[in-house]
Amino acid sequence: MSQKRNFLKIVILGDSGVGKTTLLQQYVHNKANVNNKPTIGADFSKKEIQVDGQVVTLQIWDTAGQEKFQSLGFAFYRGADCCALCFDLTNPASFEALDKWKEGFIDNAGPDDPKTFPFVLIGNKVDREDERRVSSSKAQEWCKENNDMQYFETSAKEGVAVNEAFIAMVKMGIKREQNNQIIMPDSIAGQGGAGGIKLQGNKRGQTNVKTNSCC
Ligand code: GDP
Ligand code: MG
Repeated sequence: MSQKRNFLKIVILGDSGVGKTTLLQQYVHNKANVNNKPTIGADFSKKEIQVDGQVVTLQIWDTAGQEKFQSLGFAFYRGADCCALCFDLTNPASFEALDKWKEGFIDNAGPDDPKTFPFVLIGNKVDREDERRVSSSKAQEWCKENNDMQYFETSAKEGVAVNEAFIAMVKMGIKREQNNQIIMPDSIAGQGGAGGIKLQGNKRGQTNVKTNSCC
């Protein structure tokens, strides 16, 4: 019998000030202002959710201000299953920075499937519509050029479309896991020190097992 791995790592990227921490807090705690400073020593927040009858544990990684220096470190990216690229609808420079953030993710996370890796685009601060300086169509065009990335316009402050964006990421992450899983017979999984967990072919630093190398 095989076991499911119901764990997903999501990373949130984008310029400083776009609302990444507020998005995370809104999603994890249903509040925009729990504590605007990330807890010292904690690199990620956890949330358990049910998707299609399965319990999924999310590990959501937010930056702690170091994005200003573009130096997030390898651990931040390692093993990410999904990435949210965020900009502020009132700040065109944060939109222009998206390519850089996406490239940085691909260079550092090194996914096996860079062209189809699950990203979503989040245009945040939609509650400030009067001050909008990036149109929906411009953002959608960028998404089209980037493998039809899904696009969400959110207000982390008011909790608009935040759940939807995260659920979309979770579903894409699960789909990707299912596509990449290499199902091991029990006897082999037991020998491999994997504790019965399916071995993945898509993570750096995890065991790669070719189906024809075992018996
Ligand atoms: P980060 O640097 O990307 O983590 O951004 P923060 O989450 O710290 O947010 C930066 C500032 O934008 C803070 O003052 C937030 O209160 C504010 N902010 C975040 N999200 C929203 C939003 O959806 N609407 C509005 N009006 N302000 C927001
Ligand atoms: Mg922050």
